[in-house]
Amino acid sequence: MRKPLIAGNWKMNKTESEGISLVRKLIQGVKSLTTVDVLICPPFTSLSQLNKLLVSSPILLGAQNISEHKSGAFTGEISADMAAEFCTHVILGHSERRAFYGETDELINLKVTAALNAGMIPVLCVGEQLEERESGGAASVIAGQLQAGLEGVHLPDPDLMVIAYEPVWAIGSGLSASAEDTGDLIGGVIRPTLSGLWGEIISQKIRILYGGSVNPGNARGFFTQSEIDGALVGGASLSADNFLGIIEQAT
Ligand code: PEP
Repeated sequence: MRKPLIAGNWKMNKTESEGISLVRKLIQGVKSLTTVDVLICPPFTSLSQLNKLLVSSPILLGAQNISEHKSGAFTGEISADMAAEFCTHVILGHSERRAFYGETDELINLKVTAALNAGMIPVLCVGEQLEERESGGAASVIAGQLQAGLEGVHLPDPDLMVIAYEPVWAIGSGLSASAEDTGDLIGGVIRPTLSGLWGEIISQKIRILYGGSVNPGNARGFFTQSEIDGALVGGASLSADNFLGIIEQAT
C-alpha cells in the first residue's frame, strides 16, 4: 500500500509572516494525522522559520526549485545543499519553470541528480500541453519527459522520489482532468515507464500524484482511483480551510 501524500506548492505567494500564520492553522488541523503525509513548499525566504515552526509537527517541508550546480558564481541561485538544511523535498520540472524559465528535460535531469546527491527527495512534475492531448500525443510526451528527466538516475528506494502528473492545461485553470483518465494514464503510461527505468517493484511502490486545479470539492474523485497516491495542490494550498479540506478527503 502506498501512503497518500498531499503536497502544497505555494509558488511566489506568502511573505514569511503570512506563511507562519497559514502554517500555524495547518499544524492545528493535522495534529493527529497519521494516515496521510503532508508536504508544503513555500518560497525559499520562509524555509528557515517554517522549519523551526514545524519541528514537532508531521508536516514536511519542501523547496520549489534548486540550482543544478553545487556551489560557485551563480548569482541568485540556491544549491541543493543549502535547501537541504531546511527541507526534505524539492519540486522539479514544474510546468511554470519549463515555460517561463526555459527549463529543459536535460536541465531537470541535472537538478534531479543534484537533489538526490544532497539527500533531498525530488517531486518531479510531468504533463502534456492541451494541443498534445488533443492530438493524441499525451502518452508519448509524458513518457519522454520521464525518460529524459530521469536518465542515468539510480533509485534504490521508491521513497526517494515522488512523481507528479500535472497536465499543463489543468494548472491554475479551474479545469481538472477526469479522475478515470488520470488513473488510466498513471497505470498505463507512467508506472510502465518507471518500470522500464527501475523495475516493476520500484514502479509499483513509488508515489504518483495528480496536480491541476484540485480543490476540496473534486479531490475525493482523484483519491478513489487506486493509481493516484495524492495531489500536488497550487491555489488551494494557500488557504488553510481548502488545503485541510483536501487532506481530509485523502484520509
Ligand atoms: C501546481 O501549480 O502545481 C498546481 C497544480 O496548481 P493549481 O492547483 O492551482 O492548479
